[in-house]
Amino acid sequence: MMQQRAELRQRNNVIRPGATIGLLGGGQLGRMIALAGRAMGYRFVTLDPTVDSPSGQVSDRQVVAAFTDVAGARELAQASDVITYEFENVDADVAKTLESSSYVPQGSRLLRITQNRIREKRTIQELGIPVAPFRVVADADELRQAVRELGLPAVLKTATGGYDGKGQWVLRSEAECGQAFAALAEWGTELIVETFIPFVKELSVIAARNPAGECVTYPAAENVHVDNILHLSIVPARAADDVLAKAEEIARRIAEQLDVIGLIAVEMFLASDGELYVNELAPRPHNSGHYTMDACVTSQFEQHVRAICNLPLGSTRLLSPAVMVNILGEHLKPVLEKVDVLPSSCKLHLYGKQESKPKRKMGHINVLAKTPEQALAIIDELGIWGKVEV
Ligand code: AMP
Repeated sequence: MMQQRAELRQRNNVIRPGATIGLLGGGQLGRMIALAGRAMGYRFVTLDPTVDSPSGQVSDRQVVAAFTDVAGARELAQASDVITYEFENVDADVAKTLESSSYVPQGSRLLRITQNRIREKRTIQELGIPVAPFRVVADADELRQAVRELGLPAVLKTATGGYDGKGQWVLRSEAECGQAFAALAEWGTELIVETFIPFVKELSVIAARNPAGECVTYPAAENVHVDNILHLSIVPARAADDVLAKAEEIARRIAEQLDVIGLIAVEMFLASDGELYVNELAPRPHNSGHYTMDACVTSQFEQHVRAICNLPLGSTRLLSPAVMVNILGEHLKPVLEKVDVLPSSCKLHLYGKQESKPKRKMGHINVLAKTPEQALAIIDELGIWGKVEV
C-alpha cells in the first residue's frame, strides 16, 4: 500500500515551470538542458568543480564543489525541487545524499547498470537483445582462453571508466594478450573481452520516458567516429526502413523494461546481415542526439526536462534531414574565423568552455539540408574537417 501510494505520488508529481532544477555536472549537456529548461520557465542550479562551467554560465547559480563532495551535493539538493545528472559516473554516496534530500526521478538503479560494462551487457542480454558475445577475464590466461572461444579480432575493455576509445585494446593475435591485459589492468577495474563486430554502420537511438510511463523514440542517427570520438551524426540514417524501425524498437524496449525516467541513448552496431548489437547505453542526453536541437519538433534537451518533470512528452518528428558535426578544440579557431560566412543552413552551438584543447568537445554545428548528402557536401565545402569517407 505504502509503495503503491509512493508510486502514485510519483506518477502525479508534475513539476511546473518556476521550480528549480538541480544539475549534477556543469558540462555541455547540462548547459543545453538548462538552455531548454529556461525557455520553459524553469530555474537552474549547477554543481560542478570548475568555476564558470558551461552550464553554470546559463544557470541561476552554481555550487562549486567536487562531484564526490557530499556537503556540496546536500547544498544542491536543498536548492532544487528536482535533480538530474548529465554524466553517468555519479559517486554512490553523492547519489544517496541527493536521493534522500531531494527528488531524483532518474534514480540510481540505471546508473549502477550503465556504470559497469559487465552489468550493462548482462542486463541487455537478459532482455533478449543481442550484444557482442563477451567473457569477463581475470588474468592473461583467461584472456587467451576467451579469445580462443570468441575468435579474433576481439576487443578488450575496462569494465568501468573507459571513454572515447580509452580503456580499450583491439586484439588481432593471441600473442598480444599478455601485453594488452597488463596495459588495461592498470586501470584497476575488471576487464571484459568481446567479439569484434565487423559492423557496416554504427547507429544510435534516443528514447525518452516519463514517470507516467509515456515513452517515445527519436529517429536513429548514423554515427561516424574519428579516432574514437564522434565526428558526424547523419539523420535519417542511411539504412533499410525495417532496420531503423528495429533500432527504435530496441531503444523503446530498453527504456520501458528498465523503467527509464528521462533519456536513454542506445548505441548499436549494424552488421552486414542486418542484425543489430547493442554496444553501450547512456542514461542521459547524448552527443548523437544533438541534431534534434534544430531538426526535430522537440529537442532531446527539452524532452529530458519534460520527462523528469512528468510533463507530456513532445513530438520527436524529424522536420528536416540533418548532419551534426562536432567542433573539437582543433576546429574551434577555423570555425570562429568562418563564423561570418557560415551558410544559413548551419546552426552553430558553442559550449562556452574556457579552455580549448585538441580533441575536447567545444561545440557542434547542425547542418540542415534536403538530403543528408547535401548536408555532408556543405560540411566538406567549409574545409574545416579532414575528408572522411561516409
Ligand atoms: P565504446 O567505448 O564501447 O563505445 O567503443 C568505442 C568504439 O570502438 C565504438 O564506437 C566502435 O567503433 C569500436 N568498438 C567497440 N567495441 C567494438 C566491437 N565489439 N566490435 C567492433 N568495434 C567496436
